[in-house]
Amino acid sequence: MLLDGKKLATQIKESIRSNIINKSITPGLGVIIVGDRKDSALYVRMKNKACNEVGITSKIIKLSENVSTENVLFIIDMFNSDKDIHGILVQLPLPHHINEDEVLSRVAINKDVDGFHATNIGNLAMEKRSPLFIPCTPKGCLRLLEEYNIEFKGKNAVVIGKSNIVGLPISLMLMKKDATVTVCHKFTTNLREIVQGADILISACGQAEMVRGDWLKEGVIIVDIGINHVTRDDKNIIVGDVCFEEANKIASYITPIPGGVGPMTVAMLMENTMNACLLDK
Ligand code: NDP
Repeated sequence: MLLDGKKLATQIKESIRSNIINKSITPGLGVIIVGDRKDSALYVRMKNKACNEVGITSKIIKLSENVSTENVLFIIDMFNSDKDIHGILVQLPLPHHINEDEVLSRVAINKDVDGFHATNIGNLAMEKRSPLFIPCTPKGCLRLLEEYNIEFKGKNAVVIGKSNIVGLPISLMLMKKDATVTVCHKFTTNLREIVQGADILISACGQAEMVRGDWLKEGVIIVDIGINHVTRDDKNIIVGDVCFEEANKIASYITPIPGGVGPMTVAMLMENTMNACLLDK
């Protein structure tokens, strides 16, 4: 069965739109994009389109590739003190010369709609604490699984990838849901064996179709976060980290690509921004 992120994201955005109208609020999102990466520009366009759909105003600041960390911090300070901006998004990745830690830590915690501030991540990690905001992709994955009444307690959940923005926070969230979590990365030696034990497999490693059908346990639930550009029959297409054709025959639930995690990420950003505005009231 497909985990239909597109359908759920549409429902969530509709409900955000009604909420914004009913509560007569105007949430504002400040976006900073540095450099000319085509993928980053596309993600910012998609987020901007979603803002327009739900009634969030967005202010996009484009900075050149060679901008200094200080200049990025200056824009963040500007957004931090702007009462019409409730959420701040710094589109990642930033060029290598920019101090990402310093940039993400500068975002006011009550405007940290991407949930990357160390305090928000720390509260996500700790038992009986709740962050103000949860990173959008992990939050979207769990919301999608919950929509299909997936049980986490006592399940073997395998996460491939341990990045700050996806793998790590999703592992923490699954732990809080009482799953038994194994986190894999580049240096994991027996990846295939670990994946074979997964009841729930979350993949965020950016390796095109690395996970094959014969790696999987019958009935596994798969959330494929990977976005990989490949050329097939002279066409550029996007595939996940898991070979969909093979996995679809074995999994009980699986996310399609596109239409799985991507739309949920955007919907969660809209939700976090609306909540940031409500916090301010
Ligand atoms: P990163 O490159 O920051 O992290 C990749 C992670 O995967 C690292 O932890 C890395 O290990 C691990 N990894 C890489 N190769 C392997 C391998 N062969 N075997 C096991 N682990 C491996 O990427 P992100 O976390 O930012 O993104 C991951 C993927 O998710 C990308 O394809 C990205 O495009 C996609 N993405 C999709 C989103 C969506 O909304 N759908 C949102 C965000 C990301 P190590 O730590 O050892 O280097």
